Amino acid sequence: MKVLVVGGGGREHALAWKCAQSRNVTEVIVAPGNAGTALESKLRNVSVSAEDIDGLLDLAKTESIGLTIIGPEAPLVAGVVDRFKEQGLACFGPTADAAQLEGSKAFTKEFLERHDIPTATYQSFTQLDPALEFIRAQGAPIVVKADGLAAGKGVIVASTIEEAERAATDMLGEHTFGDAGNLIVVEEFLTGEEVSFIVITDGRTILPLATSQDHKARDEGDTGPNTGGMGAYSPAPIVTAELEQRIMDEVIQPTLDGLRADGIDYLGFLYAGLMITTDGTPKVLEFNCRFGDPETQPIMARLNSDLVELCLAAINGNLADKSVDWDPRAALGVVMAAGGYPSSYRKGDAISGLPRVIGFEGKVFHAGTAMNGDDVVTSGGRVLCVVGLGDTVAAARDAAYAQAGQISWDDHFFRRDIGHRAIARDK
Ligand code: AMP
Repeated sequence: MKVLVVGGGGREHALAWKCAQSRNVTEVIVAPGNAGTALESKLRNVSVSAEDIDGLLDLAKTESIGLTIIGPEAPLVAGVVDRFKEQGLACFGPTADAAQLEGSKAFTKEFLERHDIPTATYQSFTQLDPALEFIRAQGAPIVVKADGLAAGKGVIVASTIEEAERAATDMLGEHTFGDAGNLIVVEEFLTGEEVSFIVITDGRTILPLATSQDHKARDEGDTGPNTGGMGAYSPAPIVTAELEQRIMDEVIQPTLDGLRADGIDYLGFLYAGLMITTDGTPKVLEFNCRFGDPETQPIMARLNSDLVELCLAAINGNLADKSVDWDPRAALGVVMAAGGYPSSYRKGDAISGLPRVIGFEGKVFHAGTAMNGDDVVTSGGRVLCVVGLGDTVAAARDAAYAQAGQISWDDHFFRRDIGHRAIARDK
């Protein structure tokens, strides 16, 4: 069987690499892919963009694809799965109505409130003046969010009233985020520890995936500007069996039940971004309707089960017969980024040191890379995710950093403290 993986980042390299290990898979096509997927055996890149739904449909038909897995959120929110289903093609991911959980923050807040699922208190606004009035009445810190997809930039955690006013004015008054910011959510600032919890589901059966945590801030000590993620590890020691049960009972199960009660069947990966508040309550910060990046990379490095079988079981309604088997070792991924990221950065720098060090227990996943002749060059802000495996998170970290230290290009950087919270907790 041939599999199509849609997207071109580190997440898609990890998903495609895992699909290629499936016994029943002859080839994995990645659209559009990156240099990592171009160089991997059993993988082939085809230059169709992840947002070109007609192009993807043509590709799936001409290549007789047996399963398509969608990596990024934009095509899901735009209805790629609905279009594939209409044509009788197996496509793993939620339909457009279900993907609203990520596509509209106002939809999700209203949904959570109506189904009594814990989340920050909020109000949504389409007019600037009442939004400003609400912000002043609530005080800071406070969080302002653009309703729609904004490439991870639509959330402003404001430490002062002025900052929150500025964010609301940018979104509603100056339309900095285009249509995504015509509706905003202003919500209570939550404190605690952030956790990602990802499941695979057909809407009824829920299989939790291995726990993970990521580091969003650019700089060491979790400081500096927010990024797409500078590293991640799995498992996350904070998620004890007891907390996992609470997350399932109080968040995941009621969310899928609530969707079904509202006439929406959710199929795909469901990613809950949670704040574990000081009293141990898991509160929803956001939902993503797909796998996280970079959490996918360490999680796929630990997955022993056949990913293609799991996705097909969900599509065919027999996920209840499946279980998920994990490598007991820890995995930790360090993102290597281009200087300047998350603001502007240069592209086209040749990357050296990529061949793995002898005995490296792990995998180098590519994100923003491209081929230039025989050279692998940078083509994005987050360039690589170097994943190490080890008996503990600390051992996985050591493996990842030993490998990352061999790789370089002009003006690269990475955080040296990925996993610090888990490692402190383990001690
Ligand atoms: P989101 O895309 O909604 O998950 O927001 C991105 C990041 O902003 C999250 O990972 C949190 O670090 C932070 N954040 C979002 N909402 C809140 C909130 N209500 N309280 C505190 N931090 C938040």
